[in-house]
Amino acid sequence: MVHYKTAEDIQIIKESAQILGKTHAEVAKAIKPGVKTKKLDEIAEEFIRDHKGIPSFKNYNGSFPASLCISVNDVVVHGFPSNYELKEGDVVSIDCGVKYNGFHSDSAYTYPLEGVNQETLDLLHRTYESLYLGIAQAKAGNRIGDIGFAVQSFVEKFGYGVVRELVGHGVGKDLHEDPEVPNYGKRGKGPKIMPGMVFAIEPMINMGTKKVVQEKDGWTIRTQDHKPSAHFEHMVAIFKDRTEILTTHEYLEESYSYKWRNKSR
Ligand code: MG
Ligand code: MG
Repeated sequence: MVHYKTAEDIQIIKESAQILGKTHAEVAKAIKPGVKTKKLDEIAEEFIRDHKGIPSFKNYNGSFPASLCISVNDVVVHGFPSNYELKEGDVVSIDCGVKYNGFHSDSAYTYPLEGVNQETLDLLHRTYESLYLGIAQAKAGNRIGDIGFAVQSFVEKFGYGVVRELVGHGVGKDLHEDPEVPNYGKRGKGPKIMPGMVFAIEPMINMGTKKVVQEKDGWTIRTQDHKPSAHFEHMVAIFKDRTEILTTHEYLEESYSYKWRNKSR
């Protein structure tokens, strides 16, 4: 069941998303070769709690151990922060959620470290682009399948794999609500997009096969062929005549030292 949001609800979600965007920025400052990924998690948790938020992911389903999902190279999503030290040439996806005043916000960004190869950088650029192609289809009157079609038809041109097992989702008082928002689909299919919907669009795109495997920890998802994967996520709110992106990557892009992205938007 979709929980439609009022203007007041959306205002609170925007406040939650501001804390989230600034949390990402604090983490971004620390992303460099030699940093342990668990240090990034500590930075995020402290910042969220200092701003009267609650890390949405911590103890999710009674078992996720951290405030961030940190997914390096062939890890698609849901990686645990650990003693692993980032190194040149890595790509690292940081996914974070904040609960503030009763409402969650959720966004993700994949960072290349300096020294990353061009093929991987291309994957990141194109996955980022696919997120915005998906967002462009997220408007009242369209169908959820229009979003997935836009993402899938773009990235598959490059031979990339679209992960099937994990999808975008409604967000509100719960971190994961209806509708599901797959990154694949058919034009004109799926639930109708209606004013008051708030959902996350989050392409998870693999350089090689779309197939993934889950590790024994019950969380970590890796590509089956161990090629890298990229993940970018925004939340949108649907209004009758417009769509608003509620989350922001602006602060983290200001903070991150490696200016890898050609900022055309
Ligand atoms: Mg999400
Ligand atoms: Mg997320």
